[in-house]
Amino acid sequence: MIGNISRTNNRAQVLDEATVTSFKEALRGELIRPDDRGYDEARQLYNGMIDRRPGLIARCVDAADVMAAVNFARDNHLLLAVRGGGHNGPGLGSCDDGLVIDLSPMKGIRVDPAAGTVRVEGGCTWGDVDHATHPFGLAVPTGFISTTGVGGLTLGGGLGYLTRRHGLTIDNLLAVDMVLADGRLVSASAEENEELFWAVRGGGGNFGVVTSFLFRGSPVSTVYGGPMFWEMAHAAEVMRFWRDLILTGPEELNGWFGFHTVPPVEMFPQEHHLKKMAVVTWCYTGDPDTAEAIFQPIREVAPAAMDFAGPIPFPALQSMFDGLYPPGLQWYWNADFFTELSDEAIDLHLNHASQLPTVHSTMHLYPINGAAHRVGQNETAWSYREANFAEVIVGVDPDPANNERMIQWAKAYWQALHPYSAGGAYVNMMMDEGQDRVKAAYRDNYARLAQVKARYDPHNLFRVNQNVRPG
Ligand SMILES: Cc1cc2nc3c(=O)[nH]c(=O)nc-3n(C[C@H](O)[C@H](O)[C@H](O)COP(=O)(O)OP(=O)(O)OC[C@H]3O[C@@H](n4cnc5c(N)ncnc54)[C@H](O)[C@@H]3O)c2cc1C
Repeated sequence: MIGNISRTNNRAQVLDEATVTSFKEALRGELIRPDDRGYDEARQLYNGMIDRRPGLIARCVDAADVMAAVNFARDNHLLLAVRGGGHNGPGLGSCDDGLVIDLSPMKGIRVDPAAGTVRVEGGCTWGDVDHATHPFGLAVPTGFISTTGVGGLTLGGGLGYLTRRHGLTIDNLLAVDMVLADGRLVSASAEENEELFWAVRGGGGNFGVVTSFLFRGSPVSTVYGGPMFWEMAHAAEVMRFWRDLILTGPEELNGWFGFHTVPPVEMFPQEHHLKKMAVVTWCYTGDPDTAEAIFQPIREVAPAAMDFAGPIPFPALQSMFDGLYPPGLQWYWNADFFTELSDEAIDLHLNHASQLPTVHSTMHLYPINGAAHRVGQNETAWSYREANFAEVIVGVDPDPANNERMIQWAKAYWQALHPYSAGGAYVNMMMDEGQDRVKAAYRDNYARLAQVKARYDPHNLFRVNQNVRPG
């Protein structure tokens, strides 16, 4: 007997050995149990603050494995979590006691250069995708750290360096294959299972397990980008300048604004080590011959302490910060969308940013306008098409002893800015904050999501996520 393997509907579920053995035999991939070697490694998440102990981890290698695992979880009333890249802040790629469907062995990628499309299996990271598409001069709009999973990032929306030029990741999603709660594998696209396709573009992992994604690639190869750092004395004028540029500048130009402490590592001159600074990390995808002219006014706004912007292969820009943020650090974050960034709000930012509690802690504002605004508010589940900025305030540190301090800082910073926000946040940058915050993230799209949920997952099998309750 395997004791207390899961707890669901307030019932302790005990599975007998034969049931588990026959599930194991149905899988091509590994089934990892708490006593197995490799269990501790397999259960680790990107966020070191989250410590989950699943009863079973099914390392699925294909859609058939995923179907078997979904059926097994449903039939045995197991709590079920789905893991893509394992990067989720509150650890929603895992659970205690239940079954984790770990998609990480599903790494297949097929680029079709003639059609300009990319088929990506559910266990890929964005680094895998960049590696596969770059030789063809293509890229899929994605996030800022290459170790992030394609699955979670895409299903929540996906913002990154190419958002202003080519839209959110979901705006470049053409189709998905997914396993539903009843164990069937279906495709969803603009032509097939349209409501499901509407819901997975922003509605997270609520509707099933996506085994593969079909994306449109965009012609992106070498870009002009990288970070520029300014001393805090220039932060207010740089932030105002950046705001105006993002609101009015060409869509080929993107750049996220951040407050950072300069890490004491070799790539930065020693005199800047551990100084708090304002940073914009740029990505210009326009004609390379125009780049210097585009960047001239940026370089004139205030003297930069460090300027790393220049021609760079897109995958190199995309993975530039991977080394500074390895897996296993303690993470806590709060987020909000903003339509405006008033001078008053900028003053509040400066006040809180000057107290960054640890070297890794940061605040980022990501542009979400341009091409992302050309998709209607109700065309996908992502409802904040009028918002211009996505804010995330992040306490990060290797040492759990600093958690309390950095969580307090992040909460106070978030509370100060929240009254200026559009009301809700990007689901992929929230902690586990309750139903009201999930509803605020979707606004009037929530009711439609709840209807799709009721149709495809009426018993809420897929509930380890920013959960939409069946309506
Ligand atoms: C360092 C870091 C940088 C980040 N940068 C960005 C960024 O630039 N842009 C951005 O948009 N976001 C960014 N994020 C947020 C990121 O989008 C979320 O953390 C996202 O949840 C990660 O997806 P994952 O597959 O790695 O996570 P997981 O923890 O594996 O999963 C997250 C959620 O998605 C569900 N899920 C994952 N894959 C599937 C699937 N195939 N089918 C069904 N459900 C699935 C899971 O069940 C879970 O609920 C970043 C996060 C981190 C930690």
